[in-house]
Amino acid sequence: MVLIGPGGVGKGTLAQRLVASDDQLWLSRSWTTRPRRSTEKGEEYVFVERQDFERAIDDDRFLEWAEFHGNLYGTPVPTPDPGQDVLLEIEVQGAEQVRRQHPGAVVFLILPPSMVRLEERLRERGDSDEHVAKRLSSTPYELSKGHDLATYVVVNDDLERATGEILSILEELRRPRRDPLEKD
Ligand code: 5GP
Repeated sequence: MVLIGPGGVGKGTLAQRLVASDDQLWLSRSWTTRPRRSTEKGEEYVFVERQDFERAIDDDRFLEWAEFHGNLYGTPVPTPDPGQDVLLEIEVQGAEQVRRQHPGAVVFLILPPSMVRLEERLRERGDSDEHVAKRLSSTPYELSKGHDLATYVVVNDDLERATGEILSILEELRRPRRDPLEKD
């Protein structure tokens, strides 16, 4: 299961909510060469130097990885417990790679309630004006690519509501697995 959507849309917070509400979900922790933000505690990513990241690429340690605004981001090959569903929160180039390897992956495109709200959220994270402008410049690409890849589109207008919507979709998707003999 993959969450995609423009930076600032709240994918990270949604992912945290989802794993807190659903013990069958296993949230991957990505690697990045991006410096830690002042608002981050350090658990958000494994923050690494570029040379360490490149060595991990050479060693085939990533399920997918991509360069985004000059920094590398990657998902280590997941190691979920049996019966758990892997949850990734990544950008669109990575989601494309996951789709190619796992055509059954369910991709949720998370949309902001408005572009104004998206910009406000990016500013609240403590990024510089230059960073915010850079992030906003890639939003149209992320949205159009995102629509191509998405199995479901969810508007993050309210965290509780959006979490509930994703959880009920997941419940439906798991039904055939849970009740294999159940007829429609
Ligand atoms: P940020 O710098 O704002 O934390 O993340 C930038 C973008 O990279 C976001 O869209 C985020 O979802 C994405 N991202 C985070 N981890 C990964 C990853 O492991 N792989 C890929 N491809 N993108 C990631």
